[in-house]
Amino acid sequence: MPKAILIDTTKCTACRGCQVGCKEWKNYPPVATKQRGTHQNPPDLGPYNVKLVRFSEHMEADGTVKWNFFPDACRHCLDAPCKSGASLEDSIIQDPATGAVIYTEKTAKEDFETIKNSCPYDIPRLDPKTKRIIKCDMCIDRVRANLLPMCVKSCAMGAMTFGERSDILDKAAKRLVAVQKEFPKAQLCDMENVSVIYLITDAPAKYHKFAVADASDTKGYMTRKEMLAGLLSPLRKGAGQFQG
Ligand code: SF4
Ligand code: SF4
Repeated sequence: MPKAILIDTTKCTACRGCQVGCKEWKNYPPVATKQRGTHQNPPDLGPYNVKLVRFSEHMEADGTVKWNFFPDACRHCLDAPCKSGASLEDSIIQDPATGAVIYTEKTAKEDFETIKNSCPYDIPRLDPKTKRIIKCDMCIDRVRANLLPMCVKSCAMGAMTFGERSDILDKAAKRLVAVQKEFPKAQLCDMENVSVIYLITDAPAKYHKFAVADASDTKGYMTRKEMLAGLLSPLRKGAGQFQG
């Protein structure tokens, strides 16, 4: 059965437990960073930081300052554009049991820029040592052992829920109705197309440039939303199905 994760940003305190838990489980090495006047650290996703809590501060029209938190990582798209952009059939695979999109060691033979530019959410990163392309794999080792993905397990606030896709969609829809009473602009980001669904309370751009698929400048290529729509259109009827 396909899985999904709901990330309810209304419950996120930006403690970064998910970010640290991910890094520890993956045994990624430390990366030196500098203080840049923000709590977001490191500044961006990287090959040794596949989960990053983004901090976005902005001023509202009435002069109040708002701080939005966005625990960013791969969305595990139902019909992943990065997989379609790969030149080798099995460098990027989709686990039929969970829907997790997994990058194998064969990604070292792919063109990094092609894979990176095919992602609507700016997720893939290059490991300079191994030349592999890196991103979140939904903790497929843990999930196969009936454990929660490490980010979900690490979240003391209950901001993340992992489970069967159908259950998560139900939960997300109910939570949206509740949250919209206080935040009428609340929305579920690209829910029909992804397995990692964010509930946000304001415009996506106030969280992250790539919070949703249509927020990007594509340097003359198709917009990322168009790319995603083009890939998905023949497949919409099977939106709940996965391919290995
Ligand atoms: Fe691939 Fe990007 Fe979708 Fe993740 S979010 S599956 S990297 S296209
Ligand atoms: Fe937010 Fe939970 Fe991650 Fe902490 S662990 S930053 S509360 S999602």
